[in-house]
Amino acid sequence: MSTSHAPVPGLVIAIDGPSGSGKSSTSRGVASQLGLRYLDTGAMFRAITWWMLDHGVDVHDAGAVAVSAGEPQVVSGTDPAAPSITVDGVDVSVAIRSDEVNAAVSPVSAVPEVRARLLELQRQVIGEGGIVVEGRDIGSVVAPDADVKVFLTADPAARAARRALEEGGSDVAATEASLLARDAIDSTRKTAPLVQADGAVQLDTTGYTLAEVVDQVVALAQAVGNPR
Ligand code: C5P
Repeated sequence: MSTSHAPVPGLVIAIDGPSGSGKSSTSRGVASQLGLRYLDTGAMFRAITWWMLDHGVDVHDAGAVAVSAGEPQVVSGTDPAAPSITVDGVDVSVAIRSDEVNAAVSPVSAVPEVRARLLELQRQVIGEGGIVVEGRDIGSVVAPDADVKVFLTADPAARAARRALEEGGSDVAATEASLLARDAIDSTRKTAPLVQADGAVQLDTTGYTLAEVVDQVVALAQAVGNPR
């Protein structure tokens, strides 16, 4: 994709939505097209979860997770063409996509101490802006003043089919069960649940190609740069 549109200085684009709604591909496409940085906050929660599992922390014991939440050192790359993430210097980009992490990430993410730790890191990375940030609570909590807020949705079957394809042909029914289980926990937790933020534009991606969804978000960003 070409960098064809000059970004508004400091532009922040928040892209939230449930698992498999197309957030990552859309966010990376928009960042590449607009010459912006990219932050995958889901990868940060996955990285902390990977660390907890690696260190033998019981991920279903919120107290144990809370006590350890400050220990892992998570560093996120922000190049949309080559997303990267390390924990304590170890590249975990592949390890954080395992079934074990998929099953543990929502309980770990519901722990307020984990969210507080990552909120601070996320705001540091966002800094002066010029970034597309994807997650569950970006428009509502992390960057409520974002210039563009998008809430992506898609039919559960479409979300599962996409995610199974990304995971190299996993079983679609099992993938759908896994992502619906995560959505249920993410939507009902007390701290920063998955919600459509005030001022967010909802885009249902079910019937659209990735390029079409990217174009729709780029158009929203250009409207910020050229208010009528
Ligand atoms: O986006 P992804 O599916 O990689 O996110 C994995 C999990 O991380 C989510 O199911 C959710 O539990 C957690 N998460 C979160 N808040 C965010 C991003 C992700 O709680 N901003």
